[in-house]
Amino acid sequence: MNDSKALKIIRRVFEENAREYIWQYAFAITCLVVISLSTAFTAWIMKSVINAAFIERQSELVWGICLAIFIAFVLRGFASYGQAVALSRIGNNITARYQTRAYAHILKLSLGFFHEQRSARLVAQFNQNISGIREVLNITITSSIRDLLTFVSLITVMFLQEPWLSLAVFLAAPPLAYGLRKLSRRLRVAARENVHAGSHVFGAMQEAVQGIAIVKAFTMERQLEGRIGTLVSLAERRNNKIVRISERSGPLIEIVAGLAVSGIMAYAAYRSIYHAVPPGGFLSFLTALLLAYDPARRLAKVPTQLAGAVTNAEMIYELLDRIPHQRDLPDAKPLVVTDARIEFRDVSFAYGNDEVLRGISFTAEGSRTTALVGPSGAGKSTVITLIPRFFDPKQGQVLIDGQDIAHVTKQSLRENLAYVSQQPYLFEGTIRENIRYGRPQATDEDIEKAARLAYAHDFIMEQPQGYDTPVGENGVTLSGGQRQRLSITRALVRNAPILLLDEATSALDTESEAAVQKALDKAMVGRTVIVIAHRLSTVIRASKIIVMQQGRIMEEGDHESLSKKDSLYARLGRLDAAEKAAG
Ligand code: ADP
Repeated sequence: MNDSKALKIIRRVFEENAREYIWQYAFAITCLVVISLSTAFTAWIMKSVINAAFIERQSELVWGICLAIFIAFVLRGFASYGQAVALSRIGNNITARYQTRAYAHILKLSLGFFHEQRSARLVAQFNQNISGIREVLNITITSSIRDLLTFVSLITVMFLQEPWLSLAVFLAAPPLAYGLRKLSRRLRVAARENVHAGSHVFGAMQEAVQGIAIVKAFTMERQLEGRIGTLVSLAERRNNKIVRISERSGPLIEIVAGLAVSGIMAYAAYRSIYHAVPPGGFLSFLTALLLAYDPARRLAKVPTQLAGAVTNAEMIYELLDRIPHQRDLPDAKPLVVTDARIEFRDVSFAYGNDEVLRGISFTAEGSRTTALVGPSGAGKSTVITLIPRFFDPKQGQVLIDGQDIAHVTKQSLRENLAYVSQQPYLFEGTIRENIRYGRPQATDEDIEKAARLAYAHDFIMEQPQGYDTPVGENGVTLSGGQRQRLSITRALVRNAPILLLDEATSALDTESEAAVQKALDKAMVGRTVIVIAHRLSTVIRASKIIVMQQGRIMEEGDHESLSKKDSLYARLGRLDAAEKAAG
């Protein structure tokens, strides 16, 4: 990222946020101005204190001055408190707003995005990236206003009190600035690399957590440890590099400052001894010089901090700028379902360049079950994903009751679909809430009725808090069969005319299997069902079987007609039977 791109991002952060918080910022900035001016005032007043107390010995004046100093400190204390609270509140609100916005945006992105490599990382660390936005604002505001203003007012004090000395000090400034500038450029690069290195470590950890079953099954622990080791040590080296470069400015500043301070001291002493110049002005100058040191040091660090913050902000914008593709077409109308008849017309589809469906045409009659069978990789799941428009066909059409689903609103399309996946997923929340995701308006009675139909009511009642038992990450552990029945309940409560079903291949124990099967039978009644079938019983009862291989439909018919001839279906069946016998 070059500097002009960084500037663009900073500008965008301001444009998106500054107006929103204008009054809070105005208050914080007023506080920052008070802090800067009171600091400068403390330095300025030194001259009068010293001269009044030690040279002219005027006691009344000293009282007044001391009171003024006290007031300046009190003011500064309250202003510091005010600005810190105000800026943190703005910061916390920005974090909250962007969290909500990023979350809502992620939910809108199409499935294609989540198959991309970078998506996991972008999504996983969006919280960390959001801090970038608040930091961009806070760094620029606190540093530019408080530190710059303090610095400038202290320098003004220096020039007013001791113009010649100040000039001498500033002759030392250009070489110092030159050295610091060179360091700061290298630091900015390092700070950016550091954010990226950190995000790789984060991504690798996220991956391990999500794929832990695979990690263990393939005993990948050693390899993954090695990989994260490399990433971690890269991040560590980047951090060390930053420290090395940034602390290098220490000796540089100290040498120049040492030279300047000792030179100034010598000059002031000479003036006082030989020309009897009162020391007040010099002390004011010295106080200002010493007070200017901290803000100057912080200002020097701004570019580095900003580089890290901007890199984080850039990553959050990369996420937010992802256009949720597959918007509804301008002429999209709500889907009107009558028979719920689904038709694929010469559909081809490719993930990227690999064509996985080729000229698929079939009809799933309304209120009937159509089973998709075929070897794995044949494209069965892909057929299913085209119906809710997770992806759009590259060619051909999918129609529901004669309406091309590309021309209906996605909302209306998906409202008419229920989906039960192989791996039922339960969200953080109670059993009741998980079922209600099927249809938010469902009443408790609807939910219980659906649960009874799906043979889930009994085991739900056995849970510690019945329907209000928490499940998901932090909830109770349910068996595979129970989770499946919950996900069937969710589909039932949706009461949609079309049911898409990916039958579980993973073996359940016979009892659960029977319960799940009974639940599914109930769910399938009176609906158009497209099922990726793995069980013989499902296939036998389907009114239509579609046999797929390598992205094509090879055969079509019912169990009886397909079994008779020497068909692929018959061979697949025999293969299955042979496998079962061998197993
Ligand atoms: P089935 O359900 O019959 O096992 P799939 O529809 O899952 O078949 O897969 C069909 C082909 O598409 C396979 O070759 C698979 O590797 C590929 N495929 C599936 N999903 C993706 C994806 N998200 N990105 C790229 N290729 C995919």
